[in-house]
Amino acid sequence: MKEFHGISASPGIVISKAFLYNEDSFSVPRYEIKEEDIEHEILRYKKAVKVAAGELNNLKKKIIKEHSDDEARFLDSHLLMLHDPIFTDQIYEKLRHVQTNIEWVVQNVVNDLVEKLNGSPDLYLRERSMDIDDVSKRIINHLMKRERISLADLAMELILVTPDLLPSDTLLMNKRMVKGIVMDAGGRTSHTAILARSFGIPAVLGLRSITREVKNGDTIIIDGLHGRVILEPDNETLEKYLRLQMEYLKRESELIYLNNLPAETQDGKKIFLKANIEVSEELESVHTYSAEGIGLFRSEFLIMRPGQENDEEAQFLEYRKVLEGMEGAPVTIRTLDVGGDKLIHEIAQKEEKNPLLGWRAIRFCLERKDIFKVQLRAMLRASVYGQLRIMFPMISGIEELESAHEVLDEVKAELKAEGIAYADHIPVGCMIEVPSAAMTSDILARKADFFSIGTNDLIQYTIAVDRGNEKITSMYEPFHPAVLRLIKIIVDNGHKAGIPVGMCGEMAGDPIATVILLGLGLDEFSMSAFSLPEIKKIIRSATILEAEEFLGALMDMKSFRDIDRYVRIWMEDRFDIIKG
Ligand code: PEP
Ligand code: MG
Repeated sequence: MKEFHGISASPGIVISKAFLYNEDSFSVPRYEIKEEDIEHEILRYKKAVKVAAGELNNLKKKIIKEHSDDEARFLDSHLLMLHDPIFTDQIYEKLRHVQTNIEWVVQNVVNDLVEKLNGSPDLYLRERSMDIDDVSKRIINHLMKRERISLADLAMELILVTPDLLPSDTLLMNKRMVKGIVMDAGGRTSHTAILARSFGIPAVLGLRSITREVKNGDTIIIDGLHGRVILEPDNETLEKYLRLQMEYLKRESELIYLNNLPAETQDGKKIFLKANIEVSEELESVHTYSAEGIGLFRSEFLIMRPGQENDEEAQFLEYRKVLEGMEGAPVTIRTLDVGGDKLIHEIAQKEEKNPLLGWRAIRFCLERKDIFKVQLRAMLRASVYGQLRIMFPMISGIEELESAHEVLDEVKAELKAEGIAYADHIPVGCMIEVPSAAMTSDILARKADFFSIGTNDLIQYTIAVDRGNEKITSMYEPFHPAVLRLIKIIVDNGHKAGIPVGMCGEMAGDPIATVILLGLGLDEFSMSAFSLPEIKKIIRSATILEAEEFLGALMDMKSFRDIDRYVRIWMEDRFDIIKG
């Protein structure tokens, strides 16, 4: 038995047999050709491109019929790539230079390109390397007259184990047979993660080299809730997960009854439960889990595509889609939080010693007002299509908040002068995720319509522990007394000023933390949509009185380890929580 930890990309527990799917496992032969054969190789290439284009067009029709125009759009970029003159010229040039068979040349040119893209700090470019790979494999398969294994034809229930999945594979695979996905590559915002969530297929990604450990037919457990994969489990583990799976399925069925009920404590405090999203494709699961709004729309993923930071229309359309899709429920769009680990070209060019403490988020926007203004214009224009709330990230003091407001006012004035409409009242709030903001939250509250606590960053900055560094994860402790005290200060200051205080960091979606957060007085919790039912269940069976008493006991404790242990035992004893 072996256990692996990756990124929890789509929830659920599944136990099944492994199917190794490795499109990279074929080798492309290399042989030399004579100069007079070059034209013949070019002809072979042109023919393969033509067949591949026909195949892609058929695929496009099929996806439009079975899904939607939107979901087929990525194939347009594949078609463009097939006929891209720069790509084609590169292939012909290499062919003439090395005088080697064309399939080898294609693979060689593509490998170089993919390597360059994968080395880019830009997430969008790294993810685009998959599209190039997808297209080139299609061409090479035709050149070598190989049949591509089609995931659409799978006829047995299985867990797909693969280094990487191409978007076309994810979209077209037989979803009745693919019970889970385990992948070496990928993050929460990769195509595969987004699609797996929307199809409800449990997935753990970013496992680095799990494909080297798994053989076809091995038994695998995926615990998508905790990002865990267990290979060839022993009987005890198997029984444990069969039990957890039953519990999980039972819980899922409770969804239907919870969906129509408010998130209200036993003693009558109403809590607002909202969802965090990164892309509009997640709206479907936002509705499935009955979120009362979007508490955090991480807009930066939209503009990480090159050129889109200045594409007002593309941003406007995306915001409008989300606002309309939420049918009048509040949508909090956070202005760009680029920098740190979320790089765009502009920042990527500037080497920073401490990027997490560097030119990030609002600091970037206040300097690059051209980019900031484009986003604000797009948001304001979209505001007439729903209930928009604007939120500024990484505010560290009142100066930044005031400057951000000034830019917003400027953009409003410009729109007014142009006769472009925007909503009358748009609440503007700020994230509290830097300790200096927490400590001055009484001052910030006078200039904000709401606060949203970003614990992912607040914890990292408070304890000085990099949230992405595997070596120190045990120090990344949400129940550290310093963190609890800071949250209390923020909530109290917000309430004194009469504004609501929410939380949109991962802590809000952690069931172990729910009662503490109730005790601290939070008004709104925002999290990945799939976490909502479990949090709602706890809220509905707790009282504010017990939460305050529980918190009181914790606030007297000194060590985060003691607090953590106490909280876990108390919560698992008091509530029906799936144990991690
Ligand atoms: C946070 O810091 O808690 C947060 C929600 O923002 P992000 O994870 O995008 O930094
Ligand atoms: Mg943050």
